[in-house]
Amino acid sequence: MILEARELTLRAGKSVFPVWRASLALETGEKLAVVGESGGGKTSLAWALAGRPLPGQARVSGSVEFDGMELFSLPAAERANLYYRRIALVPQNAQNSFHPAQPLWKSAREVAALASSEALGRDAVLERLEAGGRALDLPASLWLQFPHRLSGGQKQRMALLLAFMNHPEVLLLDEPTNALDELTREKTAAYLACHLAETGAGAILFTHDIGMAERWADRIAVFYRGQIVEEAPAHMLKTPLHPYTRGLVGASVRLGDPPLSRDGIPGQATPLSGPPGQCGFFERCPTAKEQCAWSAPRLHERGSRRVRCIMEV
Ligand code: SF4
Repeated sequence: MILEARELTLRAGKSVFPVWRASLALETGEKLAVVGESGGGKTSLAWALAGRPLPGQARVSGSVEFDGMELFSLPAAERANLYYRRIALVPQNAQNSFHPAQPLWKSAREVAALASSEALGRDAVLERLEAGGRALDLPASLWLQFPHRLSGGQKQRMALLLAFMNHPEVLLLDEPTNALDELTREKTAAYLACHLAETGAGAILFTHDIGMAERWADRIAVFYRGQIVEEAPAHMLKTPLHPYTRGLVGASVRLGDPPLSRDGIPGQATPLSGPPGQCGFFERCPTAKEQCAWSAPRLHERGSRRVRCIMEV
């Protein structure tokens, strides 16, 4: 196990819990996808798995272990020393995180310097980026530009390449392809899978796109209101057990679908505003029963799956 969260709970403000007792493990070389709607807590979980909760959020309980080290107990300098070297997080809207007043290759040089005592010159930096750039349609000339000259999609792919640059063992990717068109998204997902196969790194993809998760991941965890509600090998999500997963699968649009052929989930995900006293999906669940209103279901093992629903015990 290269990365493992145990019973991780985060609090924002006095009583909002973006993540509630989440346990999740990533094997070396594994591709895991965490899927769910916006507002369900995926981004909070992504940052906490890197040992850096989002501003305004704090860990209340639980742990995150990376390669046997408890991240929240490490001195800040030691933890910082892991980033972009052994763990890389590509945040949502990573394209906005480049320094606006320096050409992009200098950002790449800063990332390379985190893993090397040798200062790289411009040509050496461009050489390091060449193969990945070719695979992602990013000519070397783009790295000589300032960020404002490039499209959001180009910068997003550049942010991905920077995350890969030092071959970290774990990649945390928060909606890394949301600024890309369908074809570039597929190409990027293929490159990502290829890079992971070559380096043996593990990755967690945080996404609302269940179709992409199914195609890309080995295993999928469905995340709703700060909790995992179902976890299964990716191919098993074709027969989802949890009503929320069924709703997500039913709402996902695939090429070739007739217009308006998909059902959505009524309502929207909101963060937990206190310890759960009932099923978090109760108000939106089409199959809710009376007892779902007063008992908070636990995650139960069902063969190679885990599911949080009283109907599946
Ligand atoms: S526990 Fe009840 S409300 Fe929750 S998902 Fe299952 S059936 Fe629906």
